[in-house]
Amino acid sequence: MLILIMIKLAVLIPGYNEEDSVNFTLNAISKKLNEMIKKKMISRNSFIAFIDDGSSDKTWEVINKFKKNKYNNLKALKLSKNYGHQIALFAGIKEFHSQCDCSISVDADLQHDIGLFDKFIEFFKDDFEMVLAISDQKTESFFKIITANLFYKILNFISFSKIEPNHADFRLLSKKSMEEISKHESKSIFLRGLISSLNFKKKIIKYSVKERKFGKSKYTIFKMIRLALDGITSQSTYPLRISSITGFIILLFCFISSITVFYDYYVNQNTVPGWASTIIPIYFL
Ligand code: UDP
Ligand code: MG
Repeated sequence: MLILIMIKLAVLIPGYNEEDSVNFTLNAISKKLNEMIKKKMISRNSFIAFIDDGSSDKTWEVINKFKKNKYNNLKALKLSKNYGHQIALFAGIKEFHSQCDCSISVDADLQHDIGLFDKFIEFFKDDFEMVLAISDQKTESFFKIITANLFYKILNFISFSKIEPNHADFRLLSKKSMEEISKHESKSIFLRGLISSLNFKKKIIKYSVKERKFGKSKYTIFKMIRLALDGITSQSTYPLRISSITGFIILLFCFISSITVFYDYYVNQNTVPGWASTIIPIYFL
């Protein structure tokens, strides 16, 4: 049992163009943190950290107004452009891990159930370094269930390490595990894969995804494809092997074709002038 009387918690919220949701979300989370402070579950200097992923709407202004007028235990980080949810969350982990004992990451639209914060902290006190919330899929659309299940099946088939299906970016991370994640250096990151591959004591809890109350989803189809590709390329060498084998087969084809071209040119001497010298570079290109 970890003897931690006062845990300093950081709630990390990555958000992109969430001006409609921010007030509602920050109100709900600051209220929740105050309740937990009263129950002595977390320390008074626990805080919320909002990572603005290069929003072009009023998200940044709303955050700063909230900080000034309502809740000063709010830290904010603004990325210079829209890097995507994964990088925004990673930036938050890198920036704030040294300032807290553990963090809980939630989406800015509050589709995640903040009622679970108490449970997260209880497991943290029981020495779990990572508490991962997994969707029970009870409230998700048919399309989301089918695509998510297919994605995780493929990913787990080709992946180095097993990834928990439907593991969202709603999780508690201890300072130690955040330190380890912060060492990641590549420009793209797939946190669910990285977290699954790290050997820390983990606990899984289930939750039901809530409806988005304000604004629209910020995950365009293009961003979803990018997340899926980042997931696959970061978790497996299959794509690299497939492209190497394809390259080798094409090269073999070029050599064989070139031999037949040389044969036609020198032995049969039945080629049109300029054909052999044009076609061979084309094959190799
Ligand atoms: N998000 C982000 N950068 C992006 C896209 C999304 O930081 O480029 C944030 C978004 O503001 C939200 C979280 O990622 O806090 C999840 O996005 P969203 O709710 O739009 O996804 P969905 O729930 O529809 O899958
Ligand atoms: Mg959402």
